[in-house]
Amino acid sequence: MEGAPVSPPAAPRVLLSGSPLGRLTTLFKRVAAVNKSNGPFDLLLCVGQFFPSQGGDASAEVAEYLGGRKVVPLPTYFIGDYGFGSEIVQAKMAESSGSGPVEICPNLYFLGRAGIAELSGLRVAFLAGEYDPFSYRAGAGSDASVPSSQRHQDFEALAALANDNERPVDFLLTNEWPRGILEGVDKAEAPAGLDPVAVGSPVAAELAKDLKPRYHIAGTEDVFFARAPYRNRGPSQHVSRFIGLARVGNDKKQKYLHALNPTPSSQLSPADLAAAPPNTTPSPYEPQPSTSQPAAQNSKPPVPGSVLSTGEPEGGQYWRWQEQPNKRQRTDGGDKVCFDFQKGRCERGDKCRYRHDLSGAGPTGRGSESGGPSKGPPGPPAPCWFCLSSPDVETHLVISIAEHSYVALAKGPLIPGHVLVLPIEHHPSLAALPPDVYAEMMRYKDALQKCFAAQNRASICFERYLQLRAGTHAHLQVCPISRSAADKARLHYESAAEKNGFRLVPVPAEEGANGAEQLRNAVGGPGNYFMVELPDETRLLHAIKPGEKLPMQFGREVLADLRGTPERADWRACKLTTEEETEMADAFKEMFKPFDIMET
Ligand SMILES: [Zn+2]
Ligand SMILES: [Zn+2]
Repeated sequence: MEGAPVSPPAAPRVLLSGSPLGRLTTLFKRVAAVNKSNGPFDLLLCVGQFFPSQGGDASAEVAEYLGGRKVVPLPTYFIGDYGFGSEIVQAKMAESSGSGPVEICPNLYFLGRAGIAELSGLRVAFLAGEYDPFSYRAGAGSDASVPSSQRHQDFEALAALANDNERPVDFLLTNEWPRGILEGVDKAEAPAGLDPVAVGSPVAAELAKDLKPRYHIAGTEDVFFARAPYRNRGPSQHVSRFIGLARVGNDKKQKYLHALNPTPSSQLSPADLAAAPPNTTPSPYEPQPSTSQPAAQNSKPPVPGSVLSTGEPEGGQYWRWQEQPNKRQRTDGGDKVCFDFQKGRCERGDKCRYRHDLSGAGPTGRGSESGGPSKGPPGPPAPCWFCLSSPDVETHLVISIAEHSYVALAKGPLIPGHVLVLPIEHHPSLAALPPDVYAEMMRYKDALQKCFAAQNRASICFERYLQLRAGTHAHLQVCPISRSAADKARLHYESAAEKNGFRLVPVPAEEGANGAEQLRNAVGGPGNYFMVELPDETRLLHAIKPGEKLPMQFGREVLADLRGTPERADWRACKLTTEEETEMADAFKEMFKPFDIMET
């Protein structure tokens, strides 16, 4: 930032906005008007997607400001570094030397991927991006081609940073709503049309629970919602407030701009911090002590008399990856491996609440890198959601387990029957599999195809291998399709590839012990690739060149289009509750039984 340091105002005046999506003229016109009538304001914080999803009018508006033809009226900070035209953020990040917000043009700053900034005396924590279980679980740490997806490491780093300071953060900015935020909210007050169980991201929820921000601001649900304050568990018991903001210039006239005038937590006494208005509810993120579950350690029950009863509490179901009650109720860093420790050195030493060893993170721990495939793969560098021995695996999704591999329901399935075939141990890709593991996975694939054929359906299988510093766990997606869609599959994949500027080439589809080696040779090394197996078992491959970008969900997008359900291309549109997943997995198990390689 420029200029001489000035002493921060006692209670800064803050404007907050939902997803601008490039509509900067609309946003800044409104901001300038509000600044005149109710200001002056000290800063504007934007959550949600800052850049437009595609080119056109909105991207022209962005260019007006970036080119200096129009002026940003207030110091403005944003977190959504993806969308059309967002390359400028990467370019400016590369230029900038220090940490802290990066100036994009005068008065406009990108806060960064994850961290805490001091703005006008306020501590502002932020996490950019959106939650995508595939890249998040795989730890999409080093791949800049998926800038919109959140990374496990960012989350760890932020949670650890916040833990270093006794003083609560004033703001937490996330793009997505936190899963479970509607827990304990009166039906009459909850925004219409949102599923209280499925809405929002589990990562945003976990972060809100860890950081206990005084204000949590999020966008992307496209409604305005200010939740009744909730009291955090733990020693300080201060209250948090959640505010969801709509998209800038939305046609439903939902509120997208909100003003606050908070006194920084550094200037508040513990008593001030603990003050709770009469409509305060218990935390939506914590299991409540009135249930049969034991209360979490080290936490006091909410102060009687200051908490309104809001009906039957059902804490904990928001966090779908961690279902064991003992894990849900941990108040420390749990089983998470320390981010700093992974990078080499953690200043917190023994006081760090995250794990400082990598053993037990996978089936073999962090094995020797030189170990050949026959000795078993090295364990994942961080907890992996696909390693069957990992405590983080979602067992309710598992359909069948064999000697080296298993079948599980896909998260956010395109249709019922959309499953994954995975190695039990942490192998990065099909091409890297030892012969026996590969052969067994192909037997599973054949069994699934027979199962679908018995219902007069064909199937599509695909794998997208993306090499990541944090490790990748191979998964072959298998999805049933109608016979008529099957006839068009090849054409659809080939033309979608062409649209994305690459060609799919036919490769041998060996299913025996030599198959992995053949695939490795076809890829031409250990690099990234996309492979699809068509209903007639023809395989098409694209070996991805270093630096080449391929949509993360390419295989699924084409399939959704082929089925005539493009709205299901994004798995997030297909999210299910744990109960629905369990039901679907049980039904699939029954159907698959006669074909299961473990049964025949
Ligand atoms: Zn540590
Ligand atoms: Zn794994």
